[in-house]
Amino acid sequence: MRQVSSRKEMMDLTQEFYNAFKVAPESLYRAPARINLIGEHIDYNGGRVLPAAISCYIKALVSKRDDTIISAYSTNTKSGYSIDLNRIKYDKANGWCNYVFGVFQTLRLAGYHIPFGLNILINSEIPLGSGLSSSAALLDLVTYVANDIYNLGISLKNIAKLAQNCENSFCGLRCGIMDEASIALGLRDKCLLLDCAKYEYEYIDLDLGDYTFVVMKTNVPRSLVSSKYNDRVDECQKGLRAIQQDFNVDNLCELHEEDLLRVEKLIGDELIYRRVRHVITENERVRKFVRALRSKNIEELGRILNASHKSLKEDYEVTGEYLDAIQEAAIYAGAIGARMTGAGFGGCAIALIKKSSFEEFKEKVIDYYFKKVQLEPDVFNVDIVDGPMKVEDY
Ligand code: ADP
Ligand code: MG
Repeated sequence: MRQVSSRKEMMDLTQEFYNAFKVAPESLYRAPARINLIGEHIDYNGGRVLPAAISCYIKALVSKRDDTIISAYSTNTKSGYSIDLNRIKYDKANGWCNYVFGVFQTLRLAGYHIPFGLNILINSEIPLGSGLSSSAALLDLVTYVANDIYNLGISLKNIAKLAQNCENSFCGLRCGIMDEASIALGLRDKCLLLDCAKYEYEYIDLDLGDYTFVVMKTNVPRSLVSSKYNDRVDECQKGLRAIQQDFNVDNLCELHEEDLLRVEKLIGDELIYRRVRHVITENERVRKFVRALRSKNIEELGRILNASHKSLKEDYEVTGEYLDAIQEAAIYAGAIGARMTGAGFGGCAIALIKKSSFEEFKEKVIDYYFKKVQLEPDVFNVDIVDGPMKVEDY
């Protein structure tokens, strides 16, 4: 992944903007993708997650219009649609533009005044549908652009909330706040310890010295995510109901590893118990991970990453053949630790490695993974970066 666009690339994009809208762009904005370091599938169980924004960007070139039309074009999908601000509604025929139009509708419903339309060209190096949150990056970016251009005075925390409302209500996906918050609130060299239920957070220094996180993309699209995701939500609720016979708790993440014996007896069902065991142990891993970050204990971070992957594989069963293969490949290639990131069932994994070993690590991962599943993965270095920003005016 490149971090800075070359002049040639910007000239090409400006040309594409002109081709799409017949006017010149006025401003360039960008927003990052995100990884989740630890705390997987516990956001909907009252737990905390630890995401960070990464140097893999979606960009928007924008110009103001003197009518009330929002016109959007994506260089990724090579498609675009237009809509009148006064007549926005969800329409399957508008494809990806529902994410853009939905933002304007969400802002209007929240009482913000949107006096004129925009031309928006979207260009992204965040792979679509690979678990690095291209959708939240797009929604945060468009909300950020609107906030800036119309001077709406919305905080970054609320930009994420409005973007999430849009994904929930307009686009119809029951996602939590993690993706939108981790992007909007991204800070260089920090990760976000985020309580998704209360929407409270604090920043934790991500000072890894000679070590770094890398992203490994399995190059298999996430399949079955939404149906399996909903199954896991239901299984956790079933486990919670059984536990509530004896424990006075509102969610699974109030329980601790010491409670597991009692929890097992109360649940009875072996599969539901494994789901609950993942949630309880993963929540503890978030605590341990933060402690290890603060004491800069790299080996411990690696052990926790591996334990998280094992739990997601064996207890929660959301990894699948490709994520397992890439995690194994990372360990084989010398990673201190590795695990899937995001919802699972394909998508991406992360590994903690020594910075100086990157080229050798990458080669070994590609080789091992290819031998195992006959697919080439993408392996790339990332920095931990700031959230959305205006890059320049023309
Ligand atoms: P993820 O957020 O993990 O990448 P999602 O399925 O939640 O996966 O979101 C992917 C969808 O977001 C795409 O199918 C598309 O509708 C929209 N999207 C994201 N980035 C772009 C882009 N650059 N151009 C057009 N659509 C995009
Ligand atoms: Mg998404």
